[in-house]
Amino acid sequence: MIFPGAIAADAFGRRFRYLRLSVTEVCNFRCTYCLPGGYRKSGPMDFLGLDEAERLVRAFAQLGVAKVRLTGGEPSVRKDLTQIIARVSAQPGVDKVALTTNGWNLARHLDEWTAAGLTNLNVSVDALDRDAFHRITGHDRLGDVLAGIERALVLPLKTVKMNAVLLRDGLADDFSSWTEFVRGRPIAVRFIELMRTGDNKAFFEDQHVSGAVLRHWLERHGWTTKERGGDDGPAIEFTHPDHLGRIGLIAPYAPGFCEGCNRLRVTARGQLRLCLFGQGGRPLRDLLQADDQCEELKARIVGALTFKPAAHGLHSANPGDTRSLAQTGG
Ligand code: SAM
Ligand code: SF4
Repeated sequence: MIFPGAIAADAFGRRFRYLRLSVTEVCNFRCTYCLPGGYRKSGPMDFLGLDEAERLVRAFAQLGVAKVRLTGGEPSVRKDLTQIIARVSAQPGVDKVALTTNGWNLARHLDEWTAAGLTNLNVSVDALDRDAFHRITGHDRLGDVLAGIERALVLPLKTVKMNAVLLRDGLADDFSSWTEFVRGRPIAVRFIELMRTGDNKAFFEDQHVSGAVLRHWLERHGWTTKERGGDDGPAIEFTHPDHLGRIGLIAPYAPGFCEGCNRLRVTARGQLRLCLFGQGGRPLRDLLQADDQCEELKARIVGALTFKPAAHGLHSANPGDTRSLAQTGG
């Protein structure tokens, strides 16, 4: 019996109020660090349908999840993304519906997604220079992506963030274009240290830049770390009195990164992943076929949590069986 309102916890006492749900493995971009050859079909494209996604989120919400992030692949290639947002947002207990997107069609659809219940938006933008953006993503669409971000800033979203992977390419140890970007915009830019995946070994060795490079640059330019709140994710945030926006750093190789882990992941095919860099998944899809399977589904999730590892194996260059983040939902 699972008590209503109880928050599921793992063997290390970590509680999970945050679910990242991948809605597709498909992506239309070819980011050098993720899908350099573009998306290649592996097996049938039978990603979770609307009813399955709704049942899944209902069960997690009953186990205490309050925030659901939709990710992928590129979630916005799904034609029914607006309906997915609406169904997730309608679940009792869910108070934040977030989306991570490469932003290619943001300007066109963001109003409709926000009206459906989207509350938090993360847009991946790896460079503010048009050529570098084109080179990294395979698409000359920086203008469209930035237009979408400008639209986001006038809509009633709780947070608008940008994600940039720290890469040698396009960086040149100078972050001033980014700090200028956030001077007058209330936006958080979060740099993510490049993570090693099964598919990017050589690229990683060539392009990985330590988060310390960013930290030292910011400190030299008058940025200071923000006081951390209890509900904060893994990013360290920096602020500056002359800038409305913030700069963040997500450094998965830093000590203690996994201790505050508050998230669970479900893949687009309905596998529960206990760690982004874990081994294998626990199938949930067979229990997403009818509304009356909810109790059994919750019991399976709670049982699986006891196997969540204390930390990922990235320090020993072990990315689990994660070939790319597009495949598991980054
Ligand atoms: N397609 C969407 C996007 O790009 O925002 C959502 C999926 S993508 C896998 C989610 C995030 O993971 C993006 O911000 C992307 O930059 C990041 N990412 C992908 N591969 C990565 C890697 N090897 N290391 C660090 N971040 C990575
Ligand atoms: Fe696609 Fe996102 Fe991966 Fe880029 S990072 S290839 S946009 S899934």
